[in-house]
Amino acid sequence: MRKPTRPPAVGRGEKVIPGVWRLRLPLPWPGVPHCNAWALAAGDGVVLVDCGMHEPGSLAQLERALEQVGLRLEHVRKLVCTHAHADHCGQASAVQRRSGCELWMHPDHAHLTAAAEDPEATLARRLEIARQSGAPEGPLRRWAEQRRNQGLGLSGPVVPQHDLVEGVVVESDLGDWTVIETPGHAPSHVCLHQAERRLLLSGDHLLGRISLYFDYGWSPDPVGEFLASLDKVDALDARLALSGHGRPFTDVHGHVDGNRRLVAERLDAVRDALADAPATPYQLAPRVYGEDWTPERRTWLMTKMLCWLRHLDMRGEASTDGESPEIWELRAAA
Ligand SMILES: [Zn+2]
Ligand SMILES: [Zn+2]
Repeated sequence: MRKPTRPPAVGRGEKVIPGVWRLRLPLPWPGVPHCNAWALAAGDGVVLVDCGMHEPGSLAQLERALEQVGLRLEHVRKLVCTHAHADHCGQASAVQRRSGCELWMHPDHAHLTAAAEDPEATLARRLEIARQSGAPEGPLRRWAEQRRNQGLGLSGPVVPQHDLVEGVVVESDLGDWTVIETPGHAPSHVCLHQAERRLLLSGDHLLGRISLYFDYGWSPDPVGEFLASLDKVDALDARLALSGHGRPFTDVHGHVDGNRRLVAERLDAVRDALADAPATPYQLAPRVYGEDWTPERRTWLMTKMLCWLRHLDMRGEASTDGESPEIWELRAAA
């Protein structure tokens, strides 16, 4: 008999405020045990914001969470995804099949959907970037093999019927939610703002426990885009954030500031690492991340490393020789 090493995580539903339910769904990722979907009362049904990742049994977890608050998948009138990461839109296809609802998402979703359409080409592109960054061949080959066996966490093709772009309105019983484009964490990221009640569905742009991530290679400067998105969201003056992971939180401004500070710290650490000696991104990453630079976290941290360097390049502070592997150095101050 197979013994679980920890109690199985289960889906849970709870009312946060009248007309808004948090659906906490388990994730198979170390360090990120749950994600949130949100149900918003809308007429005779609900708008579902995000829907969790697809894996064996995951739809039953979503149904369990819905059932705990008296809802069913058949009540979903519209599925709105904050961004095209598998933990937020992975079950979209399954939810649509069951409910017949439309999927609304930002059109810049190729960072996920291109990988779904042509996994080999996407993997080849990522390997090329990793080699260019100075990653050693042996671990890279093992990583590629793992990726091939992993799957993407999708229940079927992710095909939005409606573009979730700046200013689009999602109606609910609490009033209208307005789409605020917030690229950075992902090019497809949006937040939804309910102005009268000062509520913000913040996805992964703002999390209660600050954690940074940026998709690399799909937009010119993910870190710069993220900082601009922080300014934009700060100006909304929301009082309650309903985020993609963790509990809802107040002090939205404090969280925006915390993100700004962490970005500034990391950029300083990258500047220091570059000042030590010119190096490849792969050599710079352990200088920046220290003991966090473990084999399990390397892919995640390398993606961020490339985004930091790209940002310093855009600011005119660092440059690369463009060779393979590429060497980065600080640019002499003008
Ligand atoms: Zn995400
Ligand atoms: Zn997420």
